[in-house]
Amino acid sequence: MRTAVCPGSFDPVTNGHLDIIKRTAKMVDKVIVAVLYNPNKNPLFTVEERRTLLGEVLKEIPNVEIDCFSGLLVDYVKERKIDVIVKGLRAISDFEYEFQMALMNKKLSPEVETIFMMTNNEYSYLSSSVIKETCKFKGCIDGLVPDKVKDALIKKFE
Ligand code: ADP
Repeated sequence: MRTAVCPGSFDPVTNGHLDIIKRTAKMVDKVIVAVLYNPNKNPLFTVEERRTLLGEVLKEIPNVEIDCFSGLLVDYVKERKIDVIVKGLRAISDFEYEFQMALMNKKLSPEVETIFMMTNNEYSYLSSSVIKETCKFKGCIDGLVPDKVKDALIKKFE
């Protein structure tokens, strides 16, 4: 059985993330969407809230599991017996960071592979931060996040 992990902050999940997760789910037996718990970041949503939103918007996809992790991704990958790390690539700016992370992970754990999936051009400009910033100032985010996420964001900024 082939298992992939899609790791990220998902603060909150956007349609760009969902596109990558759903495409990955078609290629492997199981996808673990792993929410990174990073105490150095100041997230808008708690890890629990992010997990709940992910669970709600992915409930129709049977081979997706939502989990969270802290510490090194390669340790989590080994612990959960994951075969491949899947990351989305939006632009050159993502490439530099992801290139560094993939090589560092390879150095730490040579048997772990990272593969990259090109963004859907409809969502190539989307990030959780741009969504938060837009929603905070009452800009329209329809079609960029699921309705449940939009409602949760509006509530946070009330
Ligand atoms: P963000 O930059 O939105 O805060 P995360 O840290 O949650 O993203 O990202 C998790 C993964 O999802 C990363 O591999 C990132 O490149 C990818 N990703 C995020 N947004 C998009 C998008 N719009 N299209 C493709 N991949 C994306």
